Amino acid sequence: MTQTPGQARPMDGTALARRLTDETAAAAADLHRRTGTAPCLATVLVGDDPASATYVRMKRTRCAQAGIRSRHTALPAGTGTARLVDTVAELSADPTVHGILLQHPVGPHADERAAFEAIAPAKDVDGVTTHSFAATAFGLPGFTSCTPGGIVRLLDEYRVDLRGKHAVVVGRSAILGRPAGMLLLARDATVTYCHSRTADLPAFLREADVLIAAVGKPELIRGDHLKPGAVVIDAGYHPGGVGDVHHASARERAALITPVPGGVGPMTIAVLLAQTVEAARQQLGVA
Ligand code: NAP
Repeated sequence: MTQTPGQARPMDGTALARRLTDETAAAAADLHRRTGTAPCLATVLVGDDPASATYVRMKRTRCAQAGIRSRHTALPAGTGTARLVDTVAELSADPTVHGILLQHPVGPHADERAAFEAIAPAKDVDGVTTHSFAATAFGLPGFTSCTPGGIVRLLDEYRVDLRGKHAVVVGRSAILGRPAGMLLLARDATVTYCHSRTADLPAFLREADVLIAAVGKPELIRGDHLKPGAVVIDAGYHPGGVGDVHHASARERAALITPVPGGVGPMTIAVLLAQTVEAARQQLGVA
């Protein structure tokens, strides 16, 4: 599609996520019918951070709605690396578990990277292991980190042609900014990463045909930063339904923008569910 500036069209992540989840539910039901086994996602939560508990609860509710079983392990705050790694390794070895979600953050007493790496690649439906990251980087089969996977599906849905476009990704975290940039590169975008040490962020923002805001700073990016007609993906989520982009001003300048809430967030969960059913399908040997 051609992008024109003005009152930006919202990219409806809620509607697309609902459609993807309907497909996932149908695939889960089909798998159950054919094998007698429902896909199963194991969730692991360390401590009692209310936001993390809410995220996990929401994911488990969505699983249930899609016909995916979930099995929850709650570990006390202060859990150390050895216990957390053992817990995840047990789930990795358990044939009744098809996908594993270790909720981030895991607290100061456990080495989060070590715990993520204990997830078997075949069960890494949240796309957090170095194996999944490398598969994304090389364009090989594997699971993508869910938020970047959801972002690319949204761009596809709105027929954003990425070939030759300048995509600017603000943020370089291992689960969001970095893999998002790699997926855009695979679609032949020219990708620039910005981060906290970028010398002149506004200069890069002005050049972005496609902007991915994954920075974690409320409303850091404003409309006057944007190139007219830009496609703006706001992955940020802060209390009060605020994103990393200032939407009132950005809508005046962008052509397409993901709302907050209702843009990237629902897609993240939809991709998690889709990848869980795909993992179950592979592990159960169903073509
Ligand atoms: P993160 O690990 O804190 O990474 C933030 C990134 O932004 C870092 O690379 C950091 O640079 C960069 N940054 C920080 N301040 C900056 C500045 N002033 N200018 C330019 N870059 C700056 O965060 P994350 O986990 O990637 O998450 C980012 C946002 O997405 C958060 O708002 C989070 O809530 C949201 N999120 C949403 C979903 C969803 O499902 N919708 C999922 C995950 C995350 P350095 O690398 O130099 O520190």
